[in-house]
Amino acid sequence: MTGVIIGVESTAHTFSFGLVTEEGIPRKSYSALYRPKEGGIHPREAADHHSNLASQLISRLMEEECLASNDVKAIAYSQGPGLGPCLRIGANVSRALSEQWEIPLVGVNHCVAHIEIGRNQTGCIDPVLLYVSGGNTQVIARAGDRYQVLGETLDIGIGNMLDKFARTQGLAFPGGPKIEQLAEEWHKQNPKANVDLVELPYSVQGMDLNFSGLLNAAIQKVNEGFELGAVCWSLQEHAFSACIEVAERALAHSGKSELLLGGGVACNERIREMTRIMCEQRGAVGTWPEKQYCIDNGTMIAELGRRMLATQNPTNLASSAINPSLRTDHTIVTWD
Ligand code: AMP
Ligand code: MG
Repeated sequence: MTGVIIGVESTAHTFSFGLVTEEGIPRKSYSALYRPKEGGIHPREAADHHSNLASQLISRLMEEECLASNDVKAIAYSQGPGLGPCLRIGANVSRALSEQWEIPLVGVNHCVAHIEIGRNQTGCIDPVLLYVSGGNTQVIARAGDRYQVLGETLDIGIGNMLDKFARTQGLAFPGGPKIEQLAEEWHKQNPKANVDLVELPYSVQGMDLNFSGLLNAAIQKVNEGFELGAVCWSLQEHAFSACIEVAERALAHSGKSELLLGGGVACNERIREMTRIMCEQRGAVGTWPEKQYCIDNGTMIAELGRRMLATQNPTNLASSAINPSLRTDHTIVTWD
């Protein structure tokens, strides 16, 4: 068997160990999800959750993948962006494993990892990435040696908005899939529905987005007596159309012809359908990896680590500190 690169993801709720072979063939991730008992994520509680599960997850990975420590050629981890306490657990575990196994350590940019696993899985070459996750909403494309952010949310991430709305309706975290289900069921009963039925604000400012106003307006509509399924449907239509509009503009400005979806919200069938329709209309290709690679996962961290190590030195201990506010365009892209 060839060697593998292990990736450790711990930017927020998800703690995950994944792996790719040295040739870049991904295997499954071994993940655990921190679910707050009430309210939003509590960074220290999430970090405790991750810390408690570290040895269990890594043992399962080694056992189920039939690996010995000398099969592991390098260890990659999310250096940022994310929640400090959570990132710190992943970084500490990775430093310890790197020392214990005497293998290179590589700190990677979480947002860039979404692009690289997408490229790995879909075969797209030079895409615009619509990155729609819990904490992030960005439209990203490569320009020279950087992945540049062409547009992004100015307040909360789209997934965060969906989760918050769900929480106000008594739906447990993560709320996105439940909103999708309620919206779909309602739309089946009301196939001719028009978005004006539940009027919500539509907020695109140039290439940027925001979601707080939409969230508050949706809560208001439920309080006014609109059916929950109808509000979920309209909420999705508004939020996703805004993202697709910015993505389309990014395709036009950059001259690129591939749109890649990534992030947990990219699991949603409706945003995939909107992507398909928009791309068809402009002769572009819309694509996305399977769901296990849309949500946060250790495998994507391993894949970016693999690509970085092919062209760069490993991360030395002195520069291995986490960076909660790491920007997508901070990372120099040294690989093809
Ligand atoms: P991530 O931060 O990339 O791990 O993604 C987690 C986010 O994706 C959470 O906000 C979830 O609510 C959201 N999510 C997961 N599945 C879906 C779905 N089917 N539809 C909408 N949002 C989803
Ligand atoms: Mg993510």
